[in-house]
Amino acid sequence: MPTIPHVIAGHHTEGHGTQRFDVFNPATGEVANQVALGNADDLEAAISAAQKAFPGWAETPPLTRARILFKARDLIEAHQDELAAIITAEHGKVRSDAKGEVIRGLEVVEFATGIPELLKGEYTEQVSRGIDAWTMRQPLGIAAGITPFNFPVMVPLWMAPMAIATGNCFILKPSERDPSASVLLADIFKEAGLPDGVLQVVHGDKDMVNAILEHPAISAVSFVGSTPIAKHVYATGTAAGKRVQALGGAKNHAIIMPDCDIEKTVDALIGAAYGSAGERCMAISVAVAVGPVADTLVTMIAERAKALRIGVGTDESSEMGPVVTAQHRNKIRQLIDRGVEQGATLVVDGREQVVKGYENGFFLGGTLFDNVTTEMDIYREEIFGPVLCVMRAPDFETALKLVNDSPYGNGTAIFTRDGDSARSFTHRVSAGMVGINVPIPVPMAFHSFGGWKDSLFGDHHMHGPEGVRFFTRMKAVTQRWPTGIRTGAEFSMPTHG
Ligand code: NAD
Repeated sequence: MPTIPHVIAGHHTEGHGTQRFDVFNPATGEVANQVALGNADDLEAAISAAQKAFPGWAETPPLTRARILFKARDLIEAHQDELAAIITAEHGKVRSDAKGEVIRGLEVVEFATGIPELLKGEYTEQVSRGIDAWTMRQPLGIAAGITPFNFPVMVPLWMAPMAIATGNCFILKPSERDPSASVLLADIFKEAGLPDGVLQVVHGDKDMVNAILEHPAISAVSFVGSTPIAKHVYATGTAAGKRVQALGGAKNHAIIMPDCDIEKTVDALIGAAYGSAGERCMAISVAVAVGPVADTLVTMIAERAKALRIGVGTDESSEMGPVVTAQHRNKIRQLIDRGVEQGATLVVDGREQVVKGYENGFFLGGTLFDNVTTEMDIYREEIFGPVLCVMRAPDFETALKLVNDSPYGNGTAIFTRDGDSARSFTHRVSAGMVGINVPIPVPMAFHSFGGWKDSLFGDHHMHGPEGVRFFTRMKAVTQRWPTGIRTGAEFSMPTHG
């Protein structure tokens, strides 16, 4: 059984930890690899390599850093099929979706190549007579990233290019469920010319996360995962004096207005609810049908959900692959059971989905509930599977209140032809990312990604301008030269003039 190694000081190593974690191929249900779970000595080795690399890397001009990122960009593009194949093998999502994930990650590398421009500070000449002032942004030191299973390439690339472009050393702790892609990414950056110790990968589970949160040499932690863990990471990391951004889970609502283009709305909802088997933090898991549109909407979605082509991710004709593990599939099944027990109408039941030739794979069919209410577990919990809940609201105001009462606030969308409703929704909704007839409004790399409420703990969103701010600290400089210096000591607060 091959062991997936750490990447420490530029080298692959199985490290000091003796524990191994099984990595499955979700399509076959078999253990395909094992990952070496690191221990405190492995983290210490990575930190010591980062401490050695940091002074040289921080002093490297941004343009030189950018040139390495340009090379990494080309290499990621050249390796995109290999990266996508690794994603499909360990996560299960279909190949075209895996390729899309690689491209969305690549876009952050492209954004980060603009770092010479992005790091330019602000300058004011003559803030007072003979005095000039400016601001600059400097790296924090060693930053760590902790990532979830559902985007094993894109989420590490939300963080790593921004952290290293800004002059930090970055230690990535990927999800132990699909860790191979991170190793290839670290190898790619090394091949692009990144000095050893600047980008490292240390595997592990919660023990490694806690060791990272407590380690005094780590200045910042960027986290993406479920809400309870995001809360823990934020509370523990900030208590240890670190800067933390912790993105959590979601329950994304789409409001379907009676005047929407129903065909296009159903297309959008099918992709957004069942794409990647619902394992996306921006998946639409709740469709709020306003007024008379509900019956038609449910009938049309049901037809399409039953016709979904479910199969292995390597089959070009598959639209939806398996979920990540048997444990996760069982949890989703149990939630569907509870939905039935608690009185929701199960319109399409995906619990017993079997794919011929892959009977041991972790497959589920597209599932559709109608008449879902706020007290039900299928509404209150993030299912993170191919389950769409339809709720019925008599009018726009009731639908909007439903969205705003949700403890989560990641993404949301409205489907309508009416500019007034769209504007009112955009202005008043409590969520970090809003779509108007766009079901999954993921911002491009040059904007920043992040939710509100229980979907993000911290102040900064990911990548884009917020990413630059998160991974740097500001210094403000005020200077004057001897000709500008007044004679005599000053005892009062200096004012301009
Ligand atoms: P998860 O919270 O189980 O794991 C995320 C990371 O935390 C992993 O690296 C894992 O090793 C670590 N971890 C797990 N349990 C821990 C514990 N008890 N203590 C400390 N660390 C722990 O999340 P997941 O199942 O890998 O990913 C799915 C979740 O991530 C969903 O809730 C999804 O909404 C969320 N997500 C959010 C975003 C976003 O941008 N807001 C993006 C992607 C995924």
